[in-house]
Amino acid sequence: MMPGVDAGEKVLLVDDNATNLQVLYRTLDGCGYTLLIAKDGAAALNIARKAIPSLILLDIMMPGMSGFEVCEQLKQDESTKDIPVIFLSAMDDSQSKVRGLALGGVDYIAKPFQSDEVVARVRTHIKMHRLEAALAQKNADLEDENQRILDAVAEGIVSLDSRGRIRSVNPMACEIMGWSSSDVTGESIHQLQLFKAERDNCPEEFGTLYPAYSEGKVVSSDQAEIRRKSGDMCSISFTCSPRKDGGAVLAMRDITEWLANREALLKARQELETQRQNLAHIERLSTGGEMAAGIAHEVNQPLTAVSNYARLMQRMIESGQTDQAKMVEVLDKINIQAERASAVIQRFRNYLRKPTEGRRELPLNTLLEKVLALAEVDSRVNEVPLRFEAGEDVGSISVDEVQFQQVVLNLLRNAMEAMRETNHRSEGVLLRSEAKDGGAYFEVVDRGPGIKIDMREELFTPFMSSKTDGMGVGLSICQSIMQGHGGDIGHRPNPKGGAIFWGQLPTV
Ligand code: ADP
Repeated sequence: MMPGVDAGEKVLLVDDNATNLQVLYRTLDGCGYTLLIAKDGAAALNIARKAIPSLILLDIMMPGMSGFEVCEQLKQDESTKDIPVIFLSAMDDSQSKVRGLALGGVDYIAKPFQSDEVVARVRTHIKMHRLEAALAQKNADLEDENQRILDAVAEGIVSLDSRGRIRSVNPMACEIMGWSSSDVTGESIHQLQLFKAERDNCPEEFGTLYPAYSEGKVVSSDQAEIRRKSGDMCSISFTCSPRKDGGAVLAMRDITEWLANREALLKARQELETQRQNLAHIERLSTGGEMAAGIAHEVNQPLTAVSNYARLMQRMIESGQTDQAKMVEVLDKINIQAERASAVIQRFRNYLRKPTEGRRELPLNTLLEKVLALAEVDSRVNEVPLRFEAGEDVGSISVDEVQFQQVVLNLLRNAMEAMRETNHRSEGVLLRSEAKDGGAYFEVVDRGPGIKIDMREELFTPFMSSKTDGMGVGLSICQSIMQGHGGDIGHRPNPKGGAIFWGQLPTV
């Protein structure tokens, strides 16, 4: 027996001539095959159906049924159609070779044959047959695996040929579209009128997926509406990608639930934002309450001056004073003082108003100067001076001005309050700005007692306060305003003693 892999393979030898059959048998005997023999076509078909050999060597010229007829019948039978057939014949003409191959024969050996040639061809064809069988099995396994994946994926997958006809659909695609696989396989995707363009009866070349299956372009959408078989609409996201071998694959996902969740999330976010704004407003009102005494004092000064000037004017008129230039001068002074009082109130009113005006692009330094004007009142009441060091090229930021004022005013007031009881009061609070890390940066530097160690970690959590009358929400609101603007806020100890609170925002 020959060494090797062919052991056990069955080879059927068919010839009506006993001598020929014997020669063939001897030639292949010892090669490791199980040899079967048949003397006519009918016997050959019978044995082939029962034994399913790996190869048939088939004589053409036989009485009764010719080799060609045998081959024809083998190819018509599902169980024998894949058995390779090598024709044997003394007819060495090309016509019978062509006919044999046309009937499904894999080879042709002319008689009288050479033993070596027969052995070599048999071995080659058996090997090829085995490889083909293995390949077919692998393909079937792959197809099975493919199918299992398609059945399992959460995406609906539709395979289209280059004319837009549906080659296959997976169960999820059927669920999304509402059509069964047998409804749509072989049908044109255009005819299903899934998308709006098709429902509006556009010509096929303007169809939604046409560029993918016909022109090799990717078509996709994050949100599209398709009409299901029932007529209901379904929101999907999809990508239709061309296949290398022609046609395209449509992958889609039902996003109805996702959309509903997104809507609920947006609503929740909006509600949160409204709550945040309400809370910020309440905090501004509370700050306003605390600042009221100072503001009254601030307004009182110009009002007293107005009253004095008015009295002076009265006296001038009573004494018959007619110098108009002098009178205009006094009236100007009254005006200036009245405007001063009005400006204080205006700033304060703006700060307290609700709703705020939304975001605007404003230079950081201008914004900080305006907050300083607002904080002046507290500065005088606390007798803690404020200094401003405006950095160069700090740039503009996109902010809600009132909310931003709230942040800086909060930091300035905390800093002044921290310094009120110290010996460094006259050094005052420093507000500085600079361009930093591609954004706009500011910091409030004080020489107060600094942040208590046990409070450092949780300073921005609500209701953390060391003050008997403090609510402890100021810094947490500052943080949410800064983060809501895409920025951040933090603090660090001042190396000279005290605290430094900083804020950073992206520039525009
Ligand atoms: P409140 O001022 O109502 O207490 P905040 O949130 O503004 O609320 O501040 C929380 C706490 O942080 C304050 O009670 C205080 O202990 C501490 N803090 C804030 N700023 C400073 C500062 N500049 N120096 C020292 N401690 C500070």
